[in-house]
Amino acid sequence: MLGSTASGIVAPPTAVDSSWRDLQELAGNRAVTWLVETTLQRQPDDDVAPSIDGPAPPEAATGPLDDAGVRGAIRFYTSQPSSYPPAIIAQLRSSLELGSDGGVDAELVQAVATWQQTKGANDPALAVDGKAGPRTLPRIFHKGLNAPGEGEAFGEAVQGGVVDEWATLATPEARLAKLVELVNVPLTAHGVPPVTNAFDTDANNSGSFDFPTWRMLVGKTPLSAGGLSTAAAKDLTDTIYHEARHTEQWFRMAQLRAGQGLSASGIAAELGIPATIAKQAKASPLDAKSMQGLIAQGWWNSVYGAGAAPRNATLTEIGNASTALKKARAAFSKSPTPANQAALAKATARRDKAFAAYRNLPEENDAWATGPEAAAGVTHGTAPAPGPAPAPGPAGVTETGDATAGSAPEAKVAEETAGETAEDTAGATESAAEEETAGETAGEAAEDTAGATESAIEETAGETAEDTAGATESAAEEETAGETAEDTAGATESAAGDAPVVETDEIAGGPPAAGRPSHEILPEDDLP
Ligand SMILES: [Zn+2]
Repeated sequence: MLGSTASGIVAPPTAVDSSWRDLQELAGNRAVTWLVETTLQRQPDDDVAPSIDGPAPPEAATGPLDDAGVRGAIRFYTSQPSSYPPAIIAQLRSSLELGSDGGVDAELVQAVATWQQTKGANDPALAVDGKAGPRTLPRIFHKGLNAPGEGEAFGEAVQGGVVDEWATLATPEARLAKLVELVNVPLTAHGVPPVTNAFDTDANNSGSFDFPTWRMLVGKTPLSAGGLSTAAAKDLTDTIYHEARHTEQWFRMAQLRAGQGLSASGIAAELGIPATIAKQAKASPLDAKSMQGLIAQGWWNSVYGAGAAPRNATLTEIGNASTALKKARAAFSKSPTPANQAALAKATARRDKAFAAYRNLPEENDAWATGPEAAAGVTHGTAPAPGPAPAPGPAGVTETGDATAGSAPEAKVAEETAGETAEDTAGATESAAEEETAGETAGEAAEDTAGATESAIEETAGETAEDTAGATESAAEEETAGETAEDTAGATESAAGDAPVVETDEIAGGPPAAGRPSHEILPEDDLP
C-alpha cells in the first residue's frame, strides 16, 4: 500500500459533507462504484442516472486518497473488527462530523485523511493514509495532557513560576523541583499519579520518564544555565511536558491492563512499574472497549506487545547512532580530511534515519506532538542577568541559544546528505511495507512477547498469560502489522527526507527486556 499512499494525495484538503457526497454519487466515479460493489454499506440511488452534463465533479474532490488508498484504508478498519467495532467507528465518524451510523466507507476514510492532512500536519506530521491508528487517534480524541489549552496553561505556569524566577530559584535542583511540581498539577488533575524528579545522566537525552521508579529525569545542563533564551525556555518546557505525557501514557496502559482483568501485581510485573502505581491503576481501570482504551492499546502494542522487539531495536540504534555521530564529529574536528568528512556525512545520515524512526514510535509521535503545546505558553526567556555573565549558557541573550550547538560544517553535511538518505529509505520502506514481511515480523514479535510475558509473571501467571496472549494475538494480525508498516512508510514521506527505517546491521548487543523507558532524545544540533 505504500505506492498508493505515495500517489494517494491527489487533492488539497477538501471538506467532506453530504452535498459533496451527493455530487459524488451523481458522478458515479470509480470510488463510489467500487464502494457499492464491495461494501454494500451504502445504497446508491438507482433512480439517479450518472450525469454527463453540468460541471464535471472533479474526481479529485473525493478527498486526499485515490481509489487504492480508499480501499487500503477501508481494509485497515474492517480487518481489525475487535479494535474497530461499530461503537468505535461511530465515535470516529461523529468526531469528523459525519453521520454516526455510516460504518466504514469511503466517506469516513477520506474524512480521516483530510483530518490528517490539515489538523494532523503539525510536527510530527501524520501520514495521510485515512487510517486512524495509534498515531492519529490520540490527536483526534485528545484528552488529558493533550486536551486543548492544557499544554499552554502549563507553559504559562512555567513562564511565571520558573523562567521569570530563574535567578531566584538559583540552583538546577530548585529549578527542576519547581518544574516537576508544576507539571504534577495537570497530571494529578487528569488522574495520573505525580512523579518525583532526578537529573538525567544520559547526555543524549534532554529528558526521560523512568517508569520503573516513576521519576521524571531532566538533563542538568539547561537547568544549570545562567539564563535562558526564549528558544531555550521553550525547549525546556517542551521537554518537561513531553515526559509528563509519557507518564500519562504509562498510567493509561496500566489502567487498560486493569480493565482487561490483570491484577495489580500482574500490572506491576508486566509493565515494570512500581506496585503503588499499579494499585492505583487497578483502582481506576480503563474500559478496553472505549476510545481511550483503544488509544492506550496502541501504546501498549508498541511498548509491550508486537511492537516491543522493533521498538527496542529502534531505541538501541538511536543510542548507537548518536554515539557514532559524536565520534565522527570529533574526528572531523580534529582532522578535517575528506575521509573524515565522508565518515561524518555517513554518521549524520545514519543518525537522521534513527532519529526519525524513534520519533515515529506511536508513544513518541504522540509525545513529540504534545510537548510543543506547552512551549506555546512560554513567551520569553529569562531577564538579562545583572553582573558578570554566568556560565554556561546564553544568559540573558534572546534567541541565540541554538547558535552554538550545531557547528557549521556538520549542519552543512546534514543538508547535503538529506536527499541521499531519503532515496535509500524509500527502497527500504517499500520492502518493509510488504504484507508478507510485516506479517512475519509481527509473528516473530508476538512469539517473543508471549515468551517474555510468561516468564515475567509469577503470581498471576495464568491470568496474565491469557490476557497477553489475546492482546498479542490481535496485535499480531497481519493487517495490524501492515498498518504499522504503512503508517511508518507514510510518516517517512511526510517527514521531508527523514527516514524512519532502522539500520539493523550495527545494533550492539541483544534486545533488552520489553518496555524500555521512554526518552526525549536530543535533536541532532543539540547533541553535546
Ligand atoms: Zn519521548
